[in-house]
Order: sequence, then C-alpha cells, then structure tokens
Amino acid sequence: MNEFKEFNMSDSLQLAIQDLGFTKPTQIQAESIQDIVQGKDIIGESATGSGKTLAFGCGIVEQVIPKQGLQALVLTPTRELAEQVKDMIKDLTKELRITAVYGGVAINPQIHDLNWAEVVVATPGRLLDHMQRGTVDLKKVKILVLDEADRMLDMGFLDDVERIIHSCPRDRQTLFFSATIDRKIKELSNKHMINPRKVSAVKMVDPTKLKQVYYNVDKNMKLSLLAHLLQNEEKDLVMVFCNTRRNTEFVTKTLKLNGVNATAIHGGLSQNKRTETITRFNGAKTSVLVCTDVAARGLDIGNVSHIYNVDLPKDAKDYVHRIGRTARAGEEGIAVNLLCDYDHDNFRRIQQEYPEFDIECVERPNVKRINIPAIKNNRPRRDNNFRNRGNFRRRY
Ligand code: AMP
Repeated sequence: MNEFKEFNMSDSLQLAIQDLGFTKPTQIQAESIQDIVQGKDIIGESATGSGKTLAFGCGIVEQVIPKQGLQALVLTPTRELAEQVKDMIKDLTKELRITAVYGGVAINPQIHDLNWAEVVVATPGRLLDHMQRGTVDLKKVKILVLDEADRMLDMGFLDDVERIIHSCPRDRQTLFFSATIDRKIKELSNKHMINPRKVSAVKMVDPTKLKQVYYNVDKNMKLSLLAHLLQNEEKDLVMVFCNTRRNTEFVTKTLKLNGVNATAIHGGLSQNKRTETITRFNGAKTSVLVCTDVAARGLDIGNVSHIYNVDLPKDAKDYVHRIGRTARAGEEGIAVNLLCDYDHDNFRRIQQEYPEFDIECVERPNVKRINIPAIKNNRPRRDNNFRNRGNFRRRY
C-alpha cells in the first residue's frame, strides 16, 4: 500500500514519489509533510538520512509556481548537501527550475542560473556574495528552509543566516531542520518563525543494531591496529574519522602505503575532488573513506558497516553524528574507537554526556607494526585543532 496517498498532495507529486520507489513515509515525513504543504512553520528535529529533504521538498513543489521568479530558498551548511538537496527536489518535479549555489566554484554560471531559478539551494557565504553583487533577488521568496541549522550555526554562519533571513519577505513560510535543537536554534526560531510546530524524529542510534567498542592502544601503534582491523575484518563501506584535515591526509597516506584502498575527504579539498570522492565511495569503488567531521554530516552515504574513530572528537555531539553514519535503516553497524592517552578526556566526555551508550572494551589483537610514511614538508601549518604539529611520525 502506498501510504503517501494519505497526504493531500497533487497527483504529479504523488507520482514522482512513487517513481522514487517510496511507499511508506519516514517518521519525519509522516509527522511533517501535511503541515509543510499547508504552509505552516515547522522545526524538524531530524538527522541526515531521516528523509527530511523529501518532506520540505514536497512543500516547495506544491507551493512554488513556475516562471514567477525565485520563490523557495534552502540554506545548507555545505556544498555537498546543497547538491544533494538540489538533486532530491529535482526528482520531485519536472516543472520547476532548481539551482545550487555555493563557494569554491566559478560564480558566473551561477549568476546565469539565478536569472531563471524558482528554487535556490545555497550555502550562506556564496549567497551573500550574490546578494552583494545584486545577482539574486529574494523579494519573492515565500518558503525559506534552513537545512542542518545546527551545523550551519556551529560553522559560524549565524550572522550570514540572519542577514539572509532579513532580506526575505516577512510574509513567508519558514522551516528549520536540525539534528539537535539547542538554545541557539530556539532563539533563531523565536525571532524568525510564527508559531512553529516542533516535530521530532531523532532515533539516530538504535542500540540493538549498533555495536560500540573501544581498544586501548599505545599511540605509536594506533595506525598499525587500524590497518590490521581494516585488513582482517569483513566489512562493507568504512568511514575512518580524524579530528583534523592534516591527520586525515596522514592516515590516508599511511593506509595506502600499507595496502589499504583509502581516500581522504575534508573541507580543504576542491569541490570537484570532494564530489568525485563521494561518488566513488558510494559506488563502492573505494571502500575506506578517511574524513573529518565535515563529512560526518550532510552526506548521503549508504551501506557504511564500520566507523572507526582514530581521534575521539572533542564535542560529544560529533561522536553521535559519526556513529549515526552506520546502522541505518535497520542494517547493523559497528563503531570502533581507538584510544590512546590523549583521547581519554574526549572519551570520558562522551560517556558522561551519553551514559546510555554501552561502549565495550575489546582486547587488542597481536599487531605487527606497519610502515609509517616519511613526511616531506614538516613545516607547522595553521591548524588550530592540532597541537603536536609536525609530529606525526613520532606519534604513530
Ligand atoms: P535526508 O538526508 O534526511 O533527506 O534523507 C535522504 C535519504 O532518505 C535518501 O537516501 C532517500 O533516498 C531516503 N528516503 C527519503 N524518503 C524515504 C522514504 N519514504 N522511504 C525510504 N527512503 C527514503
């Protein structure tokens, strides 16, 4: 049975959803679509992968009128998410013209596309750039969506977001989607929304499907243990998390040197490189993605069976986002934490904030020390998260 039929939506939208193969609304869709298509303000507490894009996409498709200028604006924290959202909305309609604008790529093609788009999905910085150049007109926006609002504020976009909101008409529908609804999000919604209804679908971790373990390991054996586990356990796609770009590069290089097919993704890579990496990973041409938290949120990556934390994140919320990449949609998953002395503070914080997590200590297997690559250029770089600059070889 197609349960989407219970929503009061146009036949063409029903058909588009059917063509996507969806017959049962996800929790966030079940709780929000009807209100969204009726033009109500909604705060949706839901993570990436919960089906939120389709939920607000339905509202956009039902309310935006072709050839009448820019009427729907979606703000996203990252370029990848902007692309994903654009693609999802395109799947829902053939009538509307949708474009994504974000930094790191040429601006002129975007200026051209902004002339005709009825729906724009944008990262805040590049959109402001267009606003300053007068190449985007927000006066007719009637639906404004903040996607991954918490991430956007964490990345320091609050002022940009406020300026963009102020440039949209007051008489509009406003939708916030956020994995967590904290004080900052509440303040923003109090300022800019009208009687929003809060809907929630945050079951990010299903304890019956997700196993969490940790190994205690000396810091100079950490990557040897990682390589050993990657080579000896059966798995689908794997994400390996590091706290800094630099460590991401180093871990990738080390794994490659030791025969593991690994690729790095972080915010320092060009847009083309990031898109190509995600496509290859999703197509399972490469099976180990080494990434910073930039990659943890927003990206639609399926079949991740294992996530490894080479560094434990400082912010316990990031741990939840990381482990939320696996054990999705009823599949099983494992989160593996590799702890050495400098990880214990962060690990303790996670255990304190999430006492419900059952993270089991596992005995370390006997592991051979692997080759650690030489670092040609050991100049200290500006990387505020990383204290022991230039010290990788000694660490691992
Ligand atoms: P999100 O990032 O929250 O928009 O979730 C996107 C993912 O959810 C994509 O992989 C979609 O294909 C999937 N999805 C969206 N709606 C449904 C649905 N009703 N049933 C199954 N999968 C869905």
